[in-house]
Amino acid sequence: MNLLDGKLVSAKIKEDIKQEAAAFLAETGRKPHLVAILVGNDGASETYVASKMRNCELVGFESTNIHFDTSISEGELLAKINELNADGGVDGLIVQLPLPKHIDPERVTEAIDYRKDVDGFHPVNLGRMQRNLPCFIPATPYGILLMLAHYGIDTSGMHAVVVGRSNIVGSPMSILLARNSNPGNCTVTLTHSRTRNVKEEVLRADIIVAAIGKKHFITADMVKEGAIVIDVGINREMSDRTKSGYKLYGDVDFEQVAPKSSWITPVPGGVGLMTIVGLLKNTLEAAKGSIY
Ligand code: NDP
Repeated sequence: MNLLDGKLVSAKIKEDIKQEAAAFLAETGRKPHLVAILVGNDGASETYVASKMRNCELVGFESTNIHFDTSISEGELLAKINELNADGGVDGLIVQLPLPKHIDPERVTEAIDYRKDVDGFHPVNLGRMQRNLPCFIPATPYGILLMLAHYGIDTSGMHAVVVGRSNIVGSPMSILLARNSNPGNCTVTLTHSRTRNVKEEVLRADIIVAAIGKKHFITADMVKEGAIVIDVGINREMSDRTKSGYKLYGDVDFEQVAPKSSWITPVPGGVGLMTIVGLLKNTLEAAKGSIY
C-alpha cells in the first residue's frame, strides 16, 4: 500500500503557487483576489470558508469573506454577486454551499460570471470541461487529478468506479476520468443510491472514487486487490478525545481497505487538502487570465 499524501503534495503545490503569486504581484502591483460569500451559520461551511481564507493568505493572495445573515433575500444576494462580477479587483468569486432553502442554488451558480467561477460550477465551465476545453475545474476533482499527476499514476485504460453523482464531486469526476487526457482515459462507471448492486460495481474497479457522505461505506470486501482508492468523504462525529470536539471519518474504511489497495488517500490528510489547492490554482489562473 502506498499513501496518496495530501499533506505532502498540497504543501509542494502551494509553494509553487506562492512563487507565482509573488511574480504576479511584482508584475501587476496587486495580489490575486478571492471573494467568498457565506450565508447563514452552518458550522462546517464556516470552517471550510475560514480554511480557504487562511490558505489564500498563506500563498500571498488577497481574500475577502462576505458573511450574510440567513435572512438575506435571493434578490439581495444576486445583486451582490452582480456587483462583484463587475469589480475589476475581484478575480475569483465563490458562494459557499449549502444555501438556505429560500435561495435557489442554481440561480446563484449561474449568476456568477463564469470567468470568475473558480469553483467551476457554472454551466459554461461544466460544458467546456466536458469538451476538454480550458475551463475552471471543480476544486475537489481538480485536486484529485493533481494528486494522481504528482505521483505519476497513469490511469489510462483503467476501469474507474465513482460512487456518488453530486454536481460538485461525483459527476465532474466521472467526466474528467473519462476524458482523453492523463489522468483520464478511464472506462468510467458512475454509481449512486439507485444503482442496483454497488458492491458488485465497485469490486470491478481499478480506481475507486468514494464521494457518498457515509462513514466507512466502502469496506474491504468491496475492493479488488491492488485498486487505487480515493476517499472524498468527510463525515464528522462528535468526540471528546479531540481538541476540536469532533473527529473526521472518510467514506472508506481505511484500516480494512488500505492493505488491499495499491494507493489510498487518508482522511484527514488526503483529498480535503487537495481541494484547497484546486481552488487556489483556479484563483491564480483567473487572476492571470490564462483561461479566459
Ligand atoms: P452529496 O450528498 O451531494 O451526494 C452524495 C452522493 O452519494 C449522491 O449522488 C447519492 O446518490 C450517493 N449515495 C448516497 N447513498 C448511496 C448508496 N447507498 N450507494 C450509492 N450511492 C449513494 O455529497 P457530496 O458529493 O457533496 O459529498 C460527498 C462526501 O464528500 C461528503 O462526505 C462530503 O462532506 C465530502 N466532500 C469532501 C470534500 C473534500 O474536499 N474532501 C469536498 C466536497 C465534499 P443520489 O444522487 O441517488 O442521492
